[in-house]
Amino acid sequence: MSRLDDIAAIRAEFPQLSRLIHGKPLVYFDNANTAQKPRAVIDAVSGYFTEHNANVARAVHTLGEEATSLYEAARDKLARFVGARSREEVVFTRGTTESVNLVAYSFLRPTLKPGDEILVSRMEHHANIVPWQLIAAETGARVVPAPITDTGELDVEGTVALMNERTQLVGLVHVSNALGTINPVATIIAAAKARGIPSLIDGSQAVPHFKVDVAALDCDFYVLTGHKLFAPTGTGALIAKREHLDAMPPFMGGGEMIRRVSFEGTTFNDPPHKFEPGTPNIAGFIGLGAAVDWLEAVGMDAIAAREARLRDTMRAALGEVDGLRLIGTARERAAVFSFVVEGAHAHDLATLLDHEGVAVRSGHHCTHPTMQFFGVPATVRASLSFYNTEDEIAAFVAALAKVRRMLA
Ligand code: PMP
Repeated sequence: MSRLDDIAAIRAEFPQLSRLIHGKPLVYFDNANTAQKPRAVIDAVSGYFTEHNANVARAVHTLGEEATSLYEAARDKLARFVGARSREEVVFTRGTTESVNLVAYSFLRPTLKPGDEILVSRMEHHANIVPWQLIAAETGARVVPAPITDTGELDVEGTVALMNERTQLVGLVHVSNALGTINPVATIIAAAKARGIPSLIDGSQAVPHFKVDVAALDCDFYVLTGHKLFAPTGTGALIAKREHLDAMPPFMGGGEMIRRVSFEGTTFNDPPHKFEPGTPNIAGFIGLGAAVDWLEAVGMDAIAAREARLRDTMRAALGEVDGLRLIGTARERAAVFSFVVEGAHAHDLATLLDHEGVAVRSGHHCTHPTMQFFGVPATVRASLSFYNTEDEIAAFVAALAKVRRMLA
């Protein structure tokens, strides 16, 4: 018995899902872009403002202590949720983008030399490409693309073959936001480790869908973003091995990240605070803590099982649509489907689908190299979550058939 068995009750906890869009029930299939928020998250955020509003770590008064303990409790919750070895390994950031930049500028750039290589797959989000390109351009290093196959899977052998003595870091997306592919991250982490190469896994699209155990994966860095995890925007984390966080210089300077400041020299706070200068998004992180509590109460295994069923239904339904080409047909995949339809532009399809109440994303999904590989400028992407239903899949397919007739 899982709470997901009563899907109507679960959906009722997400107030946005009962909206009408152009007079039609909303079918929200844009979860890879950002997820909707349960009432528990909304209440946690507004509860902070209505009852506890104060800055963190600076005040001894009651509100300050309450705000600090709620904020730090969110760190404990996230550490437990992703299986971090300790709470000190969880650095709060604004999201995946900031987490990758932190690793690029603080961990890798100080030691990067001309000729060094950073190996990232061809299916990475720009957030796991561009920061490496920026530090490579400054240092004479090179970003090397790891190969993918026509099905949108990582070419594991080809990737491992590119690991060499020049490789300073391997970056890989856990679940591709553009293709839905679930990558064999454990294999790549182990291969990198065997060669003494640090690894970074982009878990943005993984943590909302199945249980992740960072300690078991044993990657050096794992990054995630809160808003895809049913939490507010502007929240995220870098989970990093303590030895790295101890050795890394601060990324940004300011208040809270110091132990003592003088004009003769400044000493820094311990991780994770060393990397969290200034006043953070307190309400947002309290919301992230509430999101993680909510997900654990529902159960990540139950969520994964329901999403696997939705994925299979969606896959079969899309297979029936004439002229539809799936971009990415990996065997191991999430309920994320990118596709193009003969004779219809992706943006036109998405715009017309919106008129039918269906929210999907169209475009390049911040993965230009992936789109280039498949020879398409843009795709429509339908990305599902556990709160979606079989009825919504049917409504989506009917809407797709209707808008195609309009475009024909
Ligand atoms: N990586 C992946 C796989 C993503 O899907 C996204 C968001 N689309 C990001 C990184 C960037 O996340 P954010 O914009 O929240 O930093």
